Formats: sequence, C-alpha cells, structure tokens
Amino acid sequence: MQAKEFLSQNKISYVEKDINADAQARQDLLAKNIRGVPAFLIGEDMVAGLDQERILKLVDHRTAACPGCGVKLRLPLDRGPGQATCPQCKTAFDWQP
Ligand SMILES: [Zn+2]
Repeated sequence: MQAKEFLSQNKISYVEKDINADAQARQDLLAKNIRGVPAFLIGEDMVAGLDQERILKLVDHRTAACPGCGVKLRLPLDRGPGQATCPQCKTAFDWQP
C-alpha cells in the first residue's frame, strides 16, 4: 500500500515534504540518520518506511512534558483529557490531547 493511501484511509492528516525540493526536510531526515523515504515524523518520533503498525500507534498518542521534571511523556488520546502521572517523578497533572 502506498503511504498516502494508508494515511488517508486512517484519516491521518499530514504535511507532505519532498526531500528533493526541501533542503530542510532533507536535513531533518539526515539528522535522524534516515536515508530512505517514505519517512514519517510523528511528534518527535521518526518512522523510517511505511511501518503501519508503528505509525498507527504513534498517532494515537500525544507527547506532553511533565510539569515536575520536564520529561516527555507519550499519552494515549483515547484516555484524555484527564490526569496523567509521570513515571519518573510521580507528579500527577492534567493534560488535554
Ligand atoms: Zn516528571
């Protein structure tokens, strides 16, 4: 299945970048050590290739920074908004998807 088809079937909105035309996008990929396309940037995670399972898992989550220690947490959208507890410093905080 093609990347675009997969994304639209799963109602995932995206911004398409052409690394042949977009030097910044090319830099971003190289910075993550990814040399092939398609690649998907979801939050701060980069997925190389059309790894459907991984992409679906990542888009179901949002990252939020813990107000206590600043660590980035991945929170499931289907459980928000609500309270999350930081696994690192145990701070409980409210978050919105
Ligand atoms: Zn924390």
